[in-house]
Amino acid sequence: MIQYDVAIIGAGPAGMTAAIYAARANLNVLLLDKLAPGGQIVNTFEIQNYTGLGTINGAELAIKMFEHTQELEVAFDYGTVIDIQAEGNLKKLICEEGHSYEAKAVIIATGTKPRTLGVPGEDKFTGTSISWCAICDGAQYRDKKVIVTGGGNCAVEEAIYLAGLAEEVTIVTLFNLTADPVACSKLRAMSNVRIYEFYDILEFLGEDKFDGLRAKSTVTSEEITVHADGAFEYIGLEPKAEAFRGLGILNEQGYIETDSYMATKASGIYSAGDITSKHMRQVITACSDGAIAAQTVAKYIENLH
Ligand SMILES: Cc1cc2nc3c(=O)[nH]c(=O)nc-3n(C[C@H](O)[C@H](O)[C@H](O)COP(=O)(O)OP(=O)(O)OC[C@H]3O[C@@H](n4cnc5c(N)ncnc54)[C@H](O)[C@@H]3O)c2cc1C
Repeated sequence: MIQYDVAIIGAGPAGMTAAIYAARANLNVLLLDKLAPGGQIVNTFEIQNYTGLGTINGAELAIKMFEHTQELEVAFDYGTVIDIQAEGNLKKLICEEGHSYEAKAVIIATGTKPRTLGVPGEDKFTGTSISWCAICDGAQYRDKKVIVTGGGNCAVEEAIYLAGLAEEVTIVTLFNLTADPVACSKLRAMSNVRIYEFYDILEFLGEDKFDGLRAKSTVTSEEITVHADGAFEYIGLEPKAEAFRGLGILNEQGYIETDSYMATKASGIYSAGDITSKHMRQVITACSDGAIAAQTVAKYIENLH
């Protein structure tokens, strides 16, 4: 079995940046992902706030990042890591698919997944008429009506994208729109967008076919029914770190606690990106974490000799 200096779990912006910095520090790097490299940006229509790039399609940025890792000959493999076992100074990564890897250090960069509403009707239509990815599933709503739930940056950005192709987009959010003011103004100015702020979603409607949702105003208690052909949920994120609970590095919310060097309290285990306990989950902050984690790992490995 090849013994890597560092194994990076998750090939999103954090993991790929860590891989680039680690390879440039002459480490033997393994980058693992259960899916194609890129992380969440693969399904993001436009990134408009990554320094120096203006507006770039998320998938295009993901490809550029991955190509950068390959120019540096980073080993990439598919694998869903379900456990990390410490054997002295070596860590063994166990994958759901049956294979395992060994490395002196590990960087966990597994990101987050979308939160669900948990209301009646949601399970029935998940994967058919309810989605978390406008880029993947938006095209089927060309000239149809869609609902977007949530009012944060993701919800507003994706609603703008959907409004460019759907006949009508209705945002239903429990609070007001809290996204970046420029994006909110752009959305509010779109003629085919309706916005219901301070509405609690009660249920998704439809027997065999999706028909919309029912929601209740938290201000007036008025109930509304919004008819639509599909819905996209953007109501927040949940950490993807359950597999690492046994290491004792998660906080109460399930995110990984690190110090400012991206070190966890488990020796030889580092973390970076959205999975860490932090205030701002963006591509640029994920990349920054990845760079710091790689630099810290390089020092850790130097001290092992
Ligand atoms: C709809 C949407 C729009 C966004 N728009 C913007 C924007 O405009 N600008 C911006 O800066 N940010 C934006 N973001 C946020 C940005 O995408 C994230 O902050 C960034 O992707 C975080 O990078 P990451 O590497 O930490 O995690 P992720 O991108 O989530 O990558 C984590 C990777 O880990 C893999 N993984 C997870 N668990 C395992 C496991 N057990 N084993 C192996 N692999 C695993 C996943 O498959 C994934 O590829 C947006 C997010 C969303 C959802």
